[in-house]
Amino acid sequence: MLPTPAEAEALVRARVRPLPVESRPLASLAGAVLARAVRSERDQPPFDRVTMDGIAFAAAAWREGRRRFAIAGTQAAGHPPLALTDPAACFEAMTGAILPLGCDCVVPVERLQLEDGAAIVADDVAVEPFLNVHARGLDAREGDMLLTPGTRLGAPELAVLASAGHARAEVRVEPRILVATTGDELVAPDAPIAAWQVRRSNGDALRGALQLRGYRRVADDHLPDDPVVLAARLAVHLGTHDVLVLTGGVSMGRFDHVPSVLRQLGVEEVFHKVAQRPGKPIWFGIGPAGQTVFGLPGNPVSSLVCLLRYVMPALEALQGASPRPAEHMPLGAAFRVKPPLAFFLPVQVEHSATLGAVAMARATRGSGDFISLLGTDGFVELPPGPREVPAGHLAPLYRW
Ligand code: AMP
Ligand code: MG
Repeated sequence: MLPTPAEAEALVRARVRPLPVESRPLASLAGAVLARAVRSERDQPPFDRVTMDGIAFAAAAWREGRRRFAIAGTQAAGHPPLALTDPAACFEAMTGAILPLGCDCVVPVERLQLEDGAAIVADDVAVEPFLNVHARGLDAREGDMLLTPGTRLGAPELAVLASAGHARAEVRVEPRILVATTGDELVAPDAPIAAWQVRRSNGDALRGALQLRGYRRVADDHLPDDPVVLAARLAVHLGTHDVLVLTGGVSMGRFDHVPSVLRQLGVEEVFHKVAQRPGKPIWFGIGPAGQTVFGLPGNPVSSLVCLLRYVMPALEALQGASPRPAEHMPLGAAFRVKPPLAFFLPVQVEHSATLGAVAMARATRGSGDFISLLGTDGFVELPPGPREVPAGHLAPLYRW
């Protein structure tokens, strides 16, 4: 029995070994995966923080009927706290400043009348303690766990790192990825071409998909259907990369040498073939030094769906990233799955009045038809056929 896509993904996640940890400066961390927990350096906010430009005073004085406060000074942001001794007085206080001692509330400038060095509070202001004050420790306490290992660092996480006093963080090293196409019929985009040859496109598509997800260490190569040359070049690549993504040469053809050459190089086969269409012949293994090795089928649609379905989860596991649940979307119209295999169907996301965002089928004319992928957003995974999958069926969506 061939593994299902879910079983194959689980095998990939189980076998991939997390990459080493390194310390990197904050400016280089967008998209990196945190390897150590980060705790709050101080209470957050670290002090009772004024949130509006206005005046600070004691709410008790207002409760006792006072509306006019003599201005005794100015509390600017970044300065140590002033101390209010006269309850009939106030301080001008600026957004971001510490609340002056003896004060517990702030009324914004817009609600004041200023005259002769005094501020008069409008009648309809409901003054109470902590009005327009962001209280110390309200968001987090000193020592609280803010970020856990496995977190991918986006804008909010980077702000939290900086605010917790981290100029650097411990993250997983970026995987060194090789994308190599194979096939004697394939010609580079800028080379002269004969009628019986084909331009190679998988390398560019796969590298692009990886770059769009922030993977920057992506090398490429093109390999012939010659087992001796394949073995020599792959031996070199295994020594210099963490992840090998090969396309082509994994099916049953006379020139499909990739699985046998990988085995010969000591790469342990974990699975060959998954119960899916397209992309059934996919090969996955682990190299002698723990390298992650994929042999994706050469047909352009197959190689791209396999990259998203298996290589992306492998890269997440390599970085120790917490798995992200797949995005799900309802099918916009019924679709007939014929093969008794999980079916990867290219779709375009559209908006329907009744269902909201829906996935509309954009079936290809086979796995060689990458032109039909133009304008699609990704693919959904449908259950094995033969069956009619109804409109509204909630399917995992994998975006290109
Ligand atoms: P293979 O998996 O090597 O049998 O290739 C299956 C089909 O995909 C063949 O028609 C190949 O010509 C085509 N193919 C393989 N690699 C590429 C590529 N990099 N770009 C475009 N077509 C490819
Ligand atoms: Mg081939």
